[in-house]
Amino acid sequence: MKQSLFLAVIIAVNSFASGGTVFGAQQSKTETAITIGLKTRHPAIVFAGDELAKYLGLMAGDPGAAVVVTESSPKIALGLLSDFGVKVDGVADPALDDAIYIDVRNSKGVIAGSNPRSVLFAVYRFLESCGCRWIRPGPDGDYVPSRPVNKLSVQLKDKAANRFRGNMNAGTYSIDYILSKIEWNAKVGLNTFFNEFLIPKKNYVNWYSRKYPSQKAPEPRSDAEILAYHELLNREVKRRGMFLQAGGHGFNARFLGNPEIECDHEGTIVIPDEKLEFLALVNGERLKGRSPTTSELCYSRPDVQQGLARIVADYAEKRPEVDCLHFWFDDRSNNTCECERCRDKKPSEFFVQILNGIDRELTRRGLPTRIAFLIYQDLRWAPDVERFANPDRFVLMFAPSGRIYDEPYQLPPPGLALPPYQLNKNPGTRDVREHVAFLREWQRMYRGPGFVYDYHMVWYHFYDQGYYGLMEVMAEDIRRLPQMNLHGFVSCQNQKAFYPHGFPIYAHARLLWNPQSQVDDLARDYFQGAFGPEGALALEQMKTLSDLFSPQYFYRKSRAKDLVRPGDDGIPQKLSRVAEAVQKFRPVIERNLSRGHPAHQLSWKYLSVHAGMVVPMAAALQSRAEGKSKDEANHWKAVRQYVIEHEAITENVFDFFWFQRTFPGVR
Ligand SMILES: [Zn+2]
Repeated sequence: MKQSLFLAVIIAVNSFASGGTVFGAQQSKTETAITIGLKTRHPAIVFAGDELAKYLGLMAGDPGAAVVVTESSPKIALGLLSDFGVKVDGVADPALDDAIYIDVRNSKGVIAGSNPRSVLFAVYRFLESCGCRWIRPGPDGDYVPSRPVNKLSVQLKDKAANRFRGNMNAGTYSIDYILSKIEWNAKVGLNTFFNEFLIPKKNYVNWYSRKYPSQKAPEPRSDAEILAYHELLNREVKRRGMFLQAGGHGFNARFLGNPEIECDHEGTIVIPDEKLEFLALVNGERLKGRSPTTSELCYSRPDVQQGLARIVADYAEKRPEVDCLHFWFDDRSNNTCECERCRDKKPSEFFVQILNGIDRELTRRGLPTRIAFLIYQDLRWAPDVERFANPDRFVLMFAPSGRIYDEPYQLPPPGLALPPYQLNKNPGTRDVREHVAFLREWQRMYRGPGFVYDYHMVWYHFYDQGYYGLMEVMAEDIRRLPQMNLHGFVSCQNQKAFYPHGFPIYAHARLLWNPQSQVDDLARDYFQGAFGPEGALALEQMKTLSDLFSPQYFYRKSRAKDLVRPGDDGIPQKLSRVAEAVQKFRPVIERNLSRGHPAHQLSWKYLSVHAGMVVPMAAALQSRAEGKSKDEANHWKAVRQYVIEHEAITENVFDFFWFQRTFPGVR
């Protein structure tokens, strides 16, 4: 039936070419195809229509099975809730609150969203209800079932619990990869992409110039090419109607005269002599020789405050596509200027003065850009004096850097005493209660929206080689956001966190939409979608690996060597069982490598390669736990060799650059 329709189209094209009549063939095509109409034209809704047609075509095995049309009575209409007079409870602001409504019966009906990006989310949810699964980014990451598409029925109404759902751009990747990842983010319902820095350059340079152990030849990119990638990435975020965030550390380097493209963590900073006076004065010297993101300034100076406000406003004016621009101080603690005007005030007093200056400058220029301010490092201490003149301009970002993920966010007990601010002698914060207590101090003077910016998938996930154990804390963190008066989570993380599988990053997105989802239910669904009929066995194996690798122990030791916990003694024994567990699971992998859907086969392929990596890795960590540093070094060398040999298979799911930063033994 499907094939005959496809043939009819071919015949129609052929007969047109030969001058024959085509009317009959075209008519039968229009009658059978699912027509998709757009009630509102917005790039995200146009894209949603194209995606719906594409995936219905893939399901039917016929690219013409569904078509976007302009006629007034299509079979499926896409548009805003308001186009159809539909209401979803809890949508206070349709521009900010994402909600979806689907009422399709026998492939006729309505797919709607509260705003254009939600229409796209609704299309992907509709496709999921029809059996599609989004396993990982890229064309081989979708599972699309083969099935007839003329009798599809889905009814649902849903609203995202959190307004801020996203991740930032860390990682090592090609432009093709990051575009496919943004596409994937929309598929799993994430609405925010934070393209950190003024123009992020290092993520591309580290990839194209192979700044990690690799067999591939370097293919360096010029600044002009990286700038083009930057614009392309931003366009793809906006094309989906998603929120684009930008900036962060780096405006200081810009203030000192450096180009935007040199203002990320690895840029080259040049500070001319006449600008040295603007740098923070520490131990009697101006803090030169730092990186673009760790050069602190003398913030009490009016010319520094005004200059920063002007530079941030210039950036916002030049890039109206940026919805939210981050302005942060430097990326370190205890670099604060000790000059006479600075030394007696907390950095947050100057921070708020500068933020107010940015607001005035944006208001003067008529720019609506929101500004994200950061609670982090020395800015943990809220100001005593300064207040926001126009709180509506801002959004709070809480970055509990230094926690060790041994427990989820906790509300501070009554009367918890915070350490006093001490100029350039501030300790770090490990305890989540203390972090949350700092947040609460800020929330006494700022009651607007905010989100958490946390680091579960920057380093910690590499210690958890089953990629399952880390979900326990992360899921509970997400569930506790409302208790902290926060409205979402923008994850600071590697973009390429899909090896051995993508469950944590998938579950992060799903839990932000619905925090009441159970991790086990999400896991069952993800693993079945990613691995097929024997997905449950893959899940059990991953749970085993998470347990045997004891990620909390090793992560804690990497941050706080002195912290000992009951059970630490048993760590080496657990690691010694990894090789056997892998061996036992081999037959399951082997029998799945060549059967079923190609997307499932690929998932098993990654597990197969991963099984070979975790054996020497477990040996390395076992040696570490036993204090045998020479043995550890040798095992890391084996890991290194293994990863290089399998680079061609894993390079689009595994960020080896960040792995070797986490485990320097493999460098
Ligand atoms: Zn100063």
